[in-house]
Amino acid sequence: MELDKMDENDWKYHGEGNKSLVVSHVQLSRVLRLLKYPAEDSENPPQTAEQAFRQIQNIVDFSSSVMSSLLGGKFIRSGEVVKLPLEFVRQLSIKVQHQRPAWRCDKVMDIYSGCALCLPNLTSPPLHQPTHTPPLCIEIKPKCGFLPSSKHVSKDIKTKVCRFCMHQHYKVANGKWKRRSLYCPLDLFSGNRQRMQFAIRHLIEEPQNNFKIFKSGQCIYSSKEGSDELMDLNSLLHQLRPYFLHGINRHMTNKAVLNDFIQVLVNALLGGGEGDEGVVTDRRGEGRSFCEASVFNKERTRHASQGLPSDSVLFRILQTQMLDTLDIEGLYPLYRRVEQYLQDFPKKRSHLQIDGPYNEAFLEKLQKCPAEDDGSVEYAVAKVHQYRVAMTAKDCSIMIALVPRTEEEDEDEGQRRLRDFISSRPSAFSYSVSILDLDPKPFDSITSQLRLDQKIVSCYLRTGGALP
Ligand code: ATP
Ligand code: MG
Ligand code: ZN
Ligand code: MG
Repeated sequence: MELDKMDENDWKYHGEGNKSLVVSHVQLSRVLRLLKYPAEDSENPPQTAEQAFRQIQNIVDFSSSVMSSLLGGKFIRSGEVVKLPLEFVRQLSIKVQHQRPAWRCDKVMDIYSGCALCLPNLTSPPLHQPTHTPPLCIEIKPKCGFLPSSKHVSKDIKTKVCRFCMHQHYKVANGKWKRRSLYCPLDLFSGNRQRMQFAIRHLIEEPQNNFKIFKSGQCIYSSKEGSDELMDLNSLLHQLRPYFLHGINRHMTNKAVLNDFIQVLVNALLGGGEGDEGVVTDRRGEGRSFCEASVFNKERTRHASQGLPSDSVLFRILQTQMLDTLDIEGLYPLYRRVEQYLQDFPKKRSHLQIDGPYNEAFLEKLQKCPAEDDGSVEYAVAKVHQYRVAMTAKDCSIMIALVPRTEEEDEDEGQRRLRDFISSRPSAFSYSVSILDLDPKPFDSITSQLRLDQKIVSCYLRTGGALP
């Protein structure tokens, strides 16, 4: 990829989130992740090219020096900042515009800075030998997997119903989604296979922005509200069928295909570096986490949380999310303490690393936080840093790449990141698990977090609990 000879015809629309738009290379296993701005700012960008460069460099640093150490480097590819020719970026923006889902078009792609994040394309893992069946990649945005137990929580409901489930009511009430998802993160993070299967089933039924499937690097399944080109569940199962047929079992029902597919995902989510056997399970999670809004709740006694294997991707994400120990309600006064201090001593902002740099010193600040509040600004800063890291972990995505194993394939030849062997009943895959979307959340976003929390809880208390 030569940065001075970029051609928009080599790139195609790949997907987008709330903050960035992603294009993928048609041949190389690469993506470019570009920033987005609110559409009202499209004429005059909210930041200079240097600031955009700094922002993306911060994303790289945060991912590689902070999140990677907390989540485990084996899951993370941090990428690098690139400077692109402005004409290329402009042409690209025109080219992808018609493929963008309408509900994302309140933001526009940054065409002014020429800066982007270049990452390996996690949906099309480079294969050392092309297989007959293209790889499948499944993206899950799991959201927060625990209930707050902080003494600062003022509304009892927050200790019973998880944030995702409450937020669903809020989003439906505000027209963001037509239907509520019955997915509950506490089921996914439970480590209990039945609960995890149940959670994934509901992600598939109502994907919203929490579930996507890519085949040959192309998104084939996600929120139905996103685009007309995407398939429904039946066509999806039709597409998945060849991956799960084997031997004599030629007449699998759709239900059996779905079950096997979900089974493979559960295996990948619970597997770590060493596969399933001999893995230490973290028993601290046992029995603790149930969300009263989960449909699975009715069977809670039979399916307590079992805890997650300590080298699994879910365990690492949950541990990092749980750095939010005080809940936004307990954190906010500490945020105000820092804010007040910065008003009095604005020059201390960089020393406290409020906006980075996100390096080892930042990580150390949050890891060496005193256990008790000693009234210091250092304590407050450490808790704010921890909270921001936890926010990132509540917002990240897991990408599971599944590559069907051909019979001839020699196990040892499996490529670097395709490890382990999932032996699902009907077929076998090599898999690799990655974590993406690890941007630092801005310091100022804490105020809006508190407001959103209040809105979600009051909406739920007003309407939610009563809805079927
Ligand atoms: P969010 O709104 O979830 O915060 P975001 O704007 O921060 O999203 P990302 O989640 O990083 O953006 O990227 C948007 C989408 O692009 C992802 O959901 C994923 O489908 C795709 N994507 C991002 N990075 C990669 C990658 N390295 N390889 C393949 N696909 C990617
Ligand atoms: Mg995302
Ligand atoms: Zn829930
Ligand atoms: Mg993001």
